[in-house]
Amino acid sequence: MAEEKKSPVIDKEMCTGCEICIDECPNKALELVDDIASVVRVQDCDGCGKCAESCPNEAITMK
Ligand code: SF4
Ligand code: SF4
Repeated sequence: MAEEKKSPVIDKEMCTGCEICIDECPNKALELVDDIASVVRVQDCDGCGKCAESCPNEAITMK
């Protein structure tokens, strides 16, 4: 059985809105919404995890 694709879950309390994850996303799936990173284009996210790796505040978890 194929492994289920993971998606980034952003902790709104931990996100400082630095935009690093937005710059790192190869698929431009993230944007700031009210100064918090958000997966605004869920269909474009391939679950690569680069956003989670790049966040200096560990605000993103792949689930
Ligand atoms: S998992 Fe990859 S494609 Fe999805 S939002 Fe993060 S960096 Fe972008
Ligand atoms: S890298 Fe982390 S702190 Fe910066 S905008 Fe993205 S989720 Fe928020």
